[in-house]
Amino acid sequence: MGIIRDPDFEPEYTVPVVVIGGGACGLTAAIAARRQGADVVVLERDPHPAGSTAMSYGGICGAGTKAQARADINDAADTFFEDIMTITKGQTDPALARTIADNAGPTLDWLTEELGFDLEVEVQWAGLGHSNLRLHAPPGRSGEVLMGMLLSAAEREGVDILTQSKVEDLIVGEGDRVLGVVVKTPDGEERFGAQQLILATCGYGANEELIATHMPELKGAQYYGHEGNEGDALLWGQALDAAYDDLGAYQALGSLSSPGNLVIPHTLLIGGGAQINKNGERFENEMHDISGQALTILEQPDGEIWIVTDEALHTEAADRFEEYRDAVKLNLCKNANTWEGLAEQIKVPAGALVQTMSDLQDFKDGSRQDPFGRDFAGTKKLEPPYYAIKVTGALFHTQGGLCVDSQARVVRRDGTAFPNLYAGGGAARSVSGPSVWGYLPGMGICTAVTLGKLAGETAAQSLTD
Ligand SMILES: Cc1cc2nc3c(=O)[nH]c(=O)nc-3n(C[C@H](O)[C@H](O)[C@H](O)COP(=O)(O)OP(=O)(O)OC[C@H]3O[C@@H](n4cnc5c(N)ncnc54)[C@H](O)[C@@H]3O)c2cc1C
Repeated sequence: MGIIRDPDFEPEYTVPVVVIGGGACGLTAAIAARRQGADVVVLERDPHPAGSTAMSYGGICGAGTKAQARADINDAADTFFEDIMTITKGQTDPALARTIADNAGPTLDWLTEELGFDLEVEVQWAGLGHSNLRLHAPPGRSGEVLMGMLLSAAEREGVDILTQSKVEDLIVGEGDRVLGVVVKTPDGEERFGAQQLILATCGYGANEELIATHMPELKGAQYYGHEGNEGDALLWGQALDAAYDDLGAYQALGSLSSPGNLVIPHTLLIGGGAQINKNGERFENEMHDISGQALTILEQPDGEIWIVTDEALHTEAADRFEEYRDAVKLNLCKNANTWEGLAEQIKVPAGALVQTMSDLQDFKDGSRQDPFGRDFAGTKKLEPPYYAIKVTGALFHTQGGLCVDSQARVVRRDGTAFPNLYAGGGAARSVSGPSVWGYLPGMGICTAVTLGKLAGETAAQSLTD
């Protein structure tokens, strides 16, 4: 994995736009470049393109979209920008935040109106840093469905996708111009030229060394993202002396079922459910920090907790979320008609659970204030039968990476852009601040498709400059 400096490289053939990585960013970039008339090849290490995108729930944030207008939601890029700056306490790059806030909505419109993607505004996913309903999600709230739409569009547009093609090295000439790539395939090694190169290999969640260096607080925590996210883009960029930042930033989540490794929807909590540790007690404001709460959960006894809900919340989640349906099939959702019965099922002290849930009902009817500061307005009292599912915290994806400009071009440490190198999605620095607490839901795929589209279009236009 490295950089080969070879100004005399003379490839047998050269592809106009080469994209490394076939997830949301790479496929969006490829589709965008094709629509500008460029020939594109996507190189994907796996036998079938999936990436973290396929593991996700597929929610994409963006403001001022046609889908929002159809749902009578009044939102704007400026509000989105303010939300990014607020959640990151001003500790993100405002120029990049502006690029993302301004371009995410038009990118979503491009996906839905021009490419025919079936994405609708998720009406249950409110708050958590977004001041408007602006998560756009595919049917079944499934990243696999989103990948299906991207792959169909790529095929329609004539994108060539070479699978089992892992890029090992970049070949670079004078002025840091990328000249080609070295690709490992089942048949051996191949080298060919690239006029423009887009890095869409995602982050470094699967790179234990980088995680230990930049996120020591995650020691022993599970990584639940794609195993191909080994940080290749970051390592190439570092070897080229590119600018990078926020390497300690990441999204974790405190809702991975244990056992089962299924992502349990946050709507159970948003709708009024609660987190209970093995002592039968609440331990935080469940709405405070969707990402950072993974760490709080890992600090609880055995590093696991229960999400406690009722029949209405359980049924709603089962109706809407494929992975929750899978959890039901695996019998991971325990239930009982009384809190004592539920305590017995989930093996927590009955007295403590009864007290915790009685307190919860007081917070909901407004007779007392939650000491953790959660605002229960709009949530209903939990009614029997009650439900519980056991979850743990895990690292989902990293948010630091290569710095890019407003056209998704990778920049050097002095701010100047590399001549023909682009990055997006998990490969690029995101707008989540320096740590775990600055992540807005839906930002992972938002930066993948938004920077992906910018990268693809700029790369294609650069061919004719
Ligand atoms: C469980 C889970 C749920 C999530 N839910 C959401 C959500 O609802 N909304 C949201 O916004 N974000 C979510 N995320 C984050 C989101 O999935 C990612 O931020 C996003 O998919 C990143 O897209 P990408 O294209 O950059 O990377 P990926 O989709 O991971 O694609 C990168 C691709 O590059 C390939 N690759 C890597 N190295 C090489 C190489 N050297 N050569 C060739 N190919 C290579 C990989 O195999 C992979 O296919 C979730 C993540 C997880 C794990």
